[in-house]
Amino acid sequence: EVVVVGSVNVDQVVRVARLPAPGETLLATGMTLLPGGKGANQAVAAARLGAATTLVGAVGDDSSAAAALPLLRAAGVDVTTVEVVPGPTGLAIVTVDDAGENSIVVVPGANTAVDADAVSRHAGVVAGAAVVVLQGEIPAAGVAAAARAATGRVLLNLAPVIPLDPSVVRLADPLVVNEHEAGLLLEQLAPGSGTPSDDAALVAALRAQGIASVALTRGAAGAICSDADGTHTVPAPTVRAVDTSGAGDAFVGALAARLAVGASLLEAVQLAVRVGAHAVQGHGTQPSYPTLDDALPEVAR
Ligand code: ADP
Repeated sequence: EVVVVGSVNVDQVVRVARLPAPGETLLATGMTLLPGGKGANQAVAAARLGAATTLVGAVGDDSSAAAALPLLRAAGVDVTTVEVVPGPTGLAIVTVDDAGENSIVVVPGANTAVDADAVSRHAGVVAGAAVVVLQGEIPAAGVAAAARAATGRVLLNLAPVIPLDPSVVRLADPLVVNEHEAGLLLEQLAPGSGTPSDDAALVAALRAQGIASVALTRGAAGAICSDADGTHTVPAPTVRAVDTSGAGDAFVGALAARLAVGASLLEAVQLAVRVGAHAVQGHGTQPSYPTLDDALPEVAR
């Protein structure tokens, strides 16, 4: 089983001809509400691929909570461990202009309630997971508590990079980061040591910090993974990308789903790059995530 401890948001995507200047009022040309949040996205991605998946998180007691959960439910994610707390549901206000440029404001809202106490209320669920999936959109204390409560593998997707005790980062197996996050994390773990310029060296530097396994995502170039069995460059299939938002979350969900059934890190990354590449070919985040049949027909059959 996969247990994701993480964020649930509603993405409010507002379309404008151009981004507003300070003090300016603009009329939008359109608005959509979409379910989002890294935790929720990753849970949907894992469940679509057939993993039994539970999400530990929180939504608010406002009306947008109802917009956050439908695709989780449709994918079969167990959301009975998503608590309802007073205040707003997590909200990402995404303003996109005609040139595709965006500006984003995130209101953490109910996600701030996913702290050590919340994790301890669901400690049995977390301890029962084959893979516990964590990100940086809930309080660091919640991430630390979940990593420590886990008895299975801890998949730590440190996005965004939040300050975590190095002993918590070293529970990651694997750590999943992009190049930018890898650089920030290295600076946290080994201040002033300098950031290696190439991706293989970044991965090696993270491993040298005592992290058992690492998967570095590299957009259209795919990923590099490294564990005790070796280091591998895994290219992504060449596709026509229409919307790359949520590709990293698709990658993480797929990786978790595969590790949960006993795949090696390399095998799991080989599926995850295909799932990420599938996700960039569709609009939005959760709606663009594939089933196993979509991502890997030869395995599903
Ligand atoms: P993030 O958005 O977290 O920085 P990436 O951009 O590295 O994550 O994307 C995650 C994964 O999605 C990549 O490892 C790759 O498999 C896939 N992916 C992303 N962009 C593309 C693309 N343009 N073409 C093919 N695959 C892509």
